[in-house]
Amino acid sequence: MTRRERTLSLIKPDAIAAGHTGKILDHITSAGFQIIGLRMVFLSRTQAEAFYYMHRERPFFPSLIEFMTSGPVIAFVLEKENAIQAYRDLMGATDPAKAAPGTLRALFGQNVEKNAVHGSDSPENARREIAFFFSEAELIPVQSTFPQPV
Ligand code: GDP
Repeated sequence: MTRRERTLSLIKPDAIAAGHTGKILDHITSAGFQIIGLRMVFLSRTQAEAFYYMHRERPFFPSLIEFMTSGPVIAFVLEKENAIQAYRDLMGATDPAKAAPGTLRALFGQNVEKNAVHGSDSPENARREIAFFFSEAELIPVQSTFPQPV
């Protein structure tokens, strides 16, 4: 049984700097996801540490925070049936070298850290991460606003 879900995605600083933003968004919408909120944010160190607090004990944490504050990110909320797992599948494995061909990380990632995109990994984290970037009033309810596919 499938149901519509929301997930939070980021285009990370490496992919923005490399000029991949348009291509990544094209892949995502072509795969049937609807973007219901979008903004560009230059994260402060405090914000990046809060976003990735679950990794604070990991050896790569300082490097990850340095990277995520090296330039702006584009944050957006996606809606689709089973959006969380479906977007994880579209992104591919954390390490682009291990990501399946055609996935966003295989196409646009550079290495295990500079891997182009983020996607929530559970409903609980999706709720937390969406609220990190957006208020409910900033999200556009799909059914009431978007034209239906022809
Ligand atoms: P994700 O859910 O696939 O994004 O992976 P994780 O939640 O495990 O890690 C969060 C982010 O930390 C990843 O997307 C990478 O940007 C970074 N990262 C993960 N593993 C490593 C690593 O082994 N080394 C470095 N430098 N960064 C990593």
